[in-house]
Amino acid sequence: ETLDQGLEKTKSGFLSKLTKAIAGKSSVDDEVLDNLEEALVSADVGIETTVQIIDRIEKRVAKDKYLNTSELNGILQQEMENILVDAPEAESYTFASTLPAKPYVILVVGVNGVGKTTTIGKLAYNFKKAGKSVLLGAADTFRAAAVDQLTIWSDRVGVPIVKQGMGADPASVAFDTVQSGVSKGADVVIIDTAGRLHNKAHLMDELSKIKRVIQKHIPEAPHEVLLVLDGSTGQNALEQARQFTAATDVTALAITKLDGTAKGGVVLAIANQFKIPVKFIGMGEKMEDLLVFDKHEFVDSLFS
Ligand code: GDP
Repeated sequence: ETLDQGLEKTKSGFLSKLTKAIAGKSSVDDEVLDNLEEALVSADVGIETTVQIIDRIEKRVAKDKYLNTSELNGILQQEMENILVDAPEAESYTFASTLPAKPYVILVVGVNGVGKTTTIGKLAYNFKKAGKSVLLGAADTFRAAAVDQLTIWSDRVGVPIVKQGMGADPASVAFDTVQSGVSKGADVVIIDTAGRLHNKAHLMDELSKIKRVIQKHIPEAPHEVLLVLDGSTGQNALEQARQFTAATDVTALAITKLDGTAKGGVVLAIANQFKIPVKFIGMGEKMEDLLVFDKHEFVDSLFS
């Protein structure tokens, strides 16, 4: 799906609340601001980011003395973009770009069910389409279903996969995968991991063990640690981002399932509150449904 189609629910909820917020009002007053705040929070922009946006609009109201409600949409859009000015961005990222290492190793982390496997499949598809050779590693060995799902994606996209038996040591699978990637001369190695958050110390140990064994082959690897978050869970996604970034060095974010949810505003909260670029957004279950995130396009499409 396209960005506009995918964001339909977030957009219609948000725009209708915005329209209600200014109904019957000619100037932006406290009541309008309160309603605006509510509209942002209900689109899951989150309290912290919402307060920042409202503060900026309040300052403009104070400065301009009188702000016409007809200008509010434009001003809101500007201020939503302004709060993202400092948000790091995966600058004009393309799958065809030359990667800084070969193989380029991406470790994918996230809680079960967020769309990790699907995102890996979509990434593999995009890299392959851009002419790169891809190798997958099934290091989520705790669930047989995870290995099965990744195998289905490897067949679907037509890229090889390294796996071991159920219950195998994830670090051992990661080791084998990178070794095979090196010997095959793969361009990209994408490794799935188990996302068990119930025990932070355990998660940290497991991820650092995986990193250590990967580094036996390639000292600079993993080149990317991609955290996958389910956008349809709204504020839960923010909480998971907090926990994972505390447990390991996450270098990029993917936010999935933005199609069919009214909570798409969470992308703004995540982009604003974490100093980690949101690189990809998931807009459906098919391999074509992964978009490279562009903050301006994203805010624009909320208003179009
Ligand atoms: P994992 O447990 O994190 O590996 O999650 P999966 O990749 O198996 O995905 C869980 C479910 O979410 C599956 O039914 C996927 O088809 C679905 N899913 C993943 N990404 C998206 C997305 O961007 N949009 C929608 N609508 N569904 C998605």
